[in-house]
Amino acid sequence: MSHHSSPKRYHDHQLEPAQLDAAGQKKTLSALQRSIRKGINFIEESDRMKGKNFSDRHDSLYTGESGISLMYLRIFLQAKALDMPDKEISYLAERVRLHMPRLSEHSPPAGRLSPIGGPTGPAVVEVLRQLLLVDPNEDADDLKDRWKTAMKTLKNATNNSLQTDVDQVDEILYGRAGLLWALLNFRRLVHDKVGDSGRLEDLHRICGSPIITGLVEDIIRSGKDGARLYEEEFGEPGLSLMWEWHGKYYLGAIHGATGILAILLQAPKSILKPHIETILQTIDQLRELVESKNGFLPSSLPHRHKHHQLVQICHGAPGYLLLLSSLRTLHPEHWKDSFYPSSINKHIWEQGLLTKGLGLCHGISGNAYPWLLLSTLNQAGNEHDEQALAYGTAFIVHSEKCPPMFAKTPYEYRMPDHPLSLFEGLAGAMCAWSDACAALHNQLEPKEQVPILGFPGIGGVGAIGML
Ligand SMILES: [Zn+2]
Repeated sequence: MSHHSSPKRYHDHQLEPAQLDAAGQKKTLSALQRSIRKGINFIEESDRMKGKNFSDRHDSLYTGESGISLMYLRIFLQAKALDMPDKEISYLAERVRLHMPRLSEHSPPAGRLSPIGGPTGPAVVEVLRQLLLVDPNEDADDLKDRWKTAMKTLKNATNNSLQTDVDQVDEILYGRAGLLWALLNFRRLVHDKVGDSGRLEDLHRICGSPIITGLVEDIIRSGKDGARLYEEEFGEPGLSLMWEWHGKYYLGAIHGATGILAILLQAPKSILKPHIETILQTIDQLRELVESKNGFLPSSLPHRHKHHQLVQICHGAPGYLLLLSSLRTLHPEHWKDSFYPSSINKHIWEQGLLTKGLGLCHGISGNAYPWLLLSTLNQAGNEHDEQALAYGTAFIVHSEKCPPMFAKTPYEYRMPDHPLSLFEGLAGAMCAWSDACAALHNQLEPKEQVPILGFPGIGGVGAIGML
């Protein structure tokens, strides 16, 4: 059967950019706080896996239950901005635990290393929850066993990530950049001494400087090799750093260059120093590409197919903005306003209200997230930033109306394939709502700052000890 017209990818919408004077901030904050409460109730009523002692074999942060646990951990860290009653906060540890699978030792091979797309995910969440939020009713021996199993899986993944005799994958969903992001956050927890010394010693063994340096060096080397191979194959230069995945040179955040670079920029500066110029050069080449296409970022190079103009974080311009957020927040000395072409906001605003619904990976909350991060953590306060914040907030608030929770809206949206999940469904949107609450709370109550956590699995504002 042939399709003459493809289904509509986005709504030509009539949304208004958010009004963010003090009254508007307060109103938006309470709306998002209500949405999060509703989201928690919705997940707890509909989740059939919860507490069922299921295996971690098919679990991942992307669509698995451990992604929901991760969302609850994030909510816990931001509870102050959510106006959550103490009693509700005290349930969070149990909720985190009930969504966690049973853990087994895994040795994920190259191409299966990232916590986002495989069994490293539950292991990472286990580590985070044991350091940040343990259920007081949990058995201490059980916890010890789970910790040991998680550490074995992570040690195997780390060893496998440095193997040189296999074809490594570098993108975020399955590859080494995703693993690097977890290790950078572990490193931060070790540095800040979050948790007991025995556990932190274990953790230090998998995230010490030689390992982080090795991974950064390997990913950069592979990016240079990719650039060379691209030029040989297509007879024209591409970017200075390019990573191939499944035969394509992707640019989006989930499979391609913008995501890998966003994570590299969050590595320690001393480790990054030899490569920062090459990275900046690559960002400028991406900027040129976006500018030449009126705000659009092709999903891969060479760009030959004009009919798939995707505007989503996995393939499209929002990934470039997430990369800019890493650069601007962590390397302000290298920031230039010209990296941020004025056409990009308009492009995402006009084509970013995706019919696929509320999700992070290819949905509305994911498109809004980079705007939020780029504009709230930077004090520049120019017109461009104000527009980004007003657009991002409008999208984030609107995402609550999509399935699975549904509310009255003039626009129709699809039910995500995994309606509650972190990367396609409700849990991911809740992370965006919660980060938006933190940003608004920090504006309204400057004396009690709540951490902004960044895009799940990628960050964008630095490694602060949470994925
Ligand atoms: Zn996607």
